Amino acid sequence: MSRLCIWIIISTVFTCHATWTAASEQLSLFTRELLDSAREPEFFEWLKRIRRRIHENPELAFEEYETSQLVRSELESLGIEYTWPMAKTGIVGSVGSGAQPWFGLRADMDALPIQELVEWEHKSKRDGKMHACGHDVHTTMLLGAAKLLKQRSRQLKGTVKLVFQPAEESYGGAYYMLKEGALDNFQGIFGLHVSPEMPTGTIGSRPGPMLAASARFVAVISGQGGHAAIPHATRDPVLAASFAILALQQIVSRETDPLEARVLSIGFIEASQAESVIPETVRFGGTFRSLTTEGLLYLQQRIREIIEMQAAVHRCSATVDFLEEKLRPYPATANNEKMYEHAKWVGASMLGEQNVYLIPMSMGAEDFSFYSQKMPAAFFMIGTKNKTLEPVKPLHSPYLVFDEDVLPIGAALHAAVAISYLDKHVVETQ
Ligand SMILES: [Zn+2]
Ligand SMILES: [Zn+2]
Repeated sequence: MSRLCIWIIISTVFTCHATWTAASEQLSLFTRELLDSAREPEFFEWLKRIRRRIHENPELAFEEYETSQLVRSELESLGIEYTWPMAKTGIVGSVGSGAQPWFGLRADMDALPIQELVEWEHKSKRDGKMHACGHDVHTTMLLGAAKLLKQRSRQLKGTVKLVFQPAEESYGGAYYMLKEGALDNFQGIFGLHVSPEMPTGTIGSRPGPMLAASARFVAVISGQGGHAAIPHATRDPVLAASFAILALQQIVSRETDPLEARVLSIGFIEASQAESVIPETVRFGGTFRSLTTEGLLYLQQRIREIIEMQAAVHRCSATVDFLEEKLRPYPATANNEKMYEHAKWVGASMLGEQNVYLIPMSMGAEDFSFYSQKMPAAFFMIGTKNKTLEPVKPLHSPYLVFDEDVLPIGAALHAAVAISYLDKHVVETQ
């Protein structure tokens, strides 16, 4: 190799490094400026007011009418145009030039059928309903981002789409948003989920698979009922169901690579109400999960085969319903590597590298996965743990409490990821 070549390589590396460092420093200034704006007392108070109103008035999947109304009126007062209704209560706001690229930011709006047991001023006013998964926080953070973006809309090199979706909990609102074309022509999407286990001021994610694909089933085994003292005159569905349930456990223990994560759990069994009666039917059901969508399909196929076969062995018949119309199975959530790196870079510049965690995969599921199947997507957890709020309760707990200091961080992070994505896109396509 000639000395000239070596010089070219060294100077290119040095120039690239210098450019990269300058870009990082610039990004850091810009992301911190966004965070400072969102933390200004007036801005922060506005965020808290919105979050508390949503928290006090939780609505279940596909019933988020008032939450949707609140989001729309806030968008209107910010002067942001939106499309509505999408998937019943969903909204897509639009900030920027209107031109491509279109980059999506996503929040979910639904609550859970849980009775809140936290005694505080802004406790849920609706019996049996609670924002126990932090979707009130998500919706507020995205409105915060909307405000930050609107204040800077002239600088946007494209369009940021604000996706407020219904029904993340079990009902696959994301699937219906896609089906109605709400996310057509998006170039990418970013989403945040609160994490009560991670400290406020931290975020975490991982490239590739992150959350499980998840589905449910209900099986009915039919036999011939009768007196428990005359079993030979019956065809016992209890015995058939028992064999089937045991056999189902072997899909994970005998048919799955031990290094691959899969789960199959039976959650309920219903048979007769009396000790002396062999029932006509037994109903049972459960959930199954895998870190790959292929793994989920394999489990589904084997669940049906095993239940039908075990029923037949015991002279019974079986039907297996995967509830796909009502409770659509969720695919695995997998982060696009480039999008993950981008969000990680932006997050590190705002919060410091030490506050961006590489988190392990989890068997939890999220309907953000439908978006991640369709476009480059990144999903990050954002910490809400504050020492003064101990002991920490997990998501879906009736005692769950969030540190509201997360609100400006989430708002600024959303905005920063979107603005810098559009900036980078322009550079890459030049
Ligand atoms: Zn949840
Ligand atoms: Zn959630």
